[in-house]
Amino acid sequence: MLKKLLFAILISIPFIVSAQENALPSIPMREHIVYYEKFYRIRNELSKQQVISNAMQWFKGAFPGQPAPILNKNEQSAAVNGTGIFKVNTTAGNYYWLRFKVSMIPGDGILTFRIYNVYEKPIEKGITNEFSKIEYRWWDYRNGYPWSADDKPLFNGLDSGVNALSISLEKKIGKLQPPRFRALALYSTNVEADHVDFAYDAIKFYNKLAVEKGFVIDTTSNWEKLNDDNLKNYQLVIWLNEFPHNEAERRSFEKFMSNGGAWLGFHVSGYNDKDTHWPWFVDFMGGAVFYNNNWPPLPAKMIVDDNKHPVTKDLPKTYTAPINEWYGWKPNPRDNKDVKILVTLAPSNYPLGKKDVIRDGDIPVVWTNTKYKMLYMNMGHGDMNLTSALQNRMFEDAILWLCKK
Ligand code: ZN
Repeated sequence: MLKKLLFAILISIPFIVSAQENALPSIPMREHIVYYEKFYRIRNELSKQQVISNAMQWFKGAFPGQPAPILNKNEQSAAVNGTGIFKVNTTAGNYYWLRFKVSMIPGDGILTFRIYNVYEKPIEKGITNEFSKIEYRWWDYRNGYPWSADDKPLFNGLDSGVNALSISLEKKIGKLQPPRFRALALYSTNVEADHVDFAYDAIKFYNKLAVEKGFVIDTTSNWEKLNDDNLKNYQLVIWLNEFPHNEAERRSFEKFMSNGGAWLGFHVSGYNDKDTHWPWFVDFMGGAVFYNNNWPPLPAKMIVDDNKHPVTKDLPKTYTAPINEWYGWKPNPRDNKDVKILVTLAPSNYPLGKKDVIRDGDIPVVWTNTKYKMLYMNMGHGDMNLTSALQNRMFEDAILWLCKK
């Protein structure tokens, strides 16, 4: 029975050995794990239901004998998840089983295909092996310490196997296409608890949007990732609850922005005062320097300055934003001719706060310095910011606007 089953798997996935004998196999990683992510433009005639059923059909054909794919119902979208396996021949008659998670998530005209949690099991004469995480072996291989001569053909086999799989899925779904853009979201965990809450909420929110719209978002709390080499991979940088404190990171960010990169900053990431010592950033913010705030955090009425701008087109003329700590600025970025203000704190909120009270003043909340591809939003304190469906549209529109080609 087992023999039959293995044979079926074998013929379903032809193994292709890479011709580039000396090249380091390019295995994509995310958050330290091997992680393949590909995007398909769904053929127009396919309904979401058909996409799901085609994906399940493909799965059964690609991995006969594997546990059936699981249809997951989350909030609105359904996803097909399952466990896949294929065989890789290496050297001296050895071979390996590679087992991994497969997930296919239909979004807004886009299907996201992922392969991750990869395990390898060597089949060698006279030795019993179990499945183990491929990252153990990949880590050593990348650092120049292969476990055996099998490593290179194994990793090449993984890569070409995944490519063969993803190409075979095209027939069922539509053409493979590159991600719309790649975003890097940076945050810190050792900051105010309310700012950490926001970062986690925003990561969840943008991960979901990434699947719907077909872009990649990498998230990290390691600010050293703000370096020239790494930033080459991204069109958009998001600061969720912090700004860089060291010179090297600041210089890399300045270079990224001057070369046409995009930035979205929330709340405290735009904070600066006399101790920040980063004049470039003050200029980038349109001259805005932190002046005052309300406390405790409160909901507040917003005035939308421009309902035609792509970032605010889905908002009404006024709306009530969920609980946030609101910042006032002096100088006021509105005084800068290069700044376009999109949302303003309504004066009808005043006096706003109890311990710290905002009593008056023109306080912009969302703006862009038109000299850069940037957008600042003062929202980002606490766990209520993403609870307004209305305001969430602005959070979506913001990054789609920043990354529009
Ligand atoms: Zn705050």
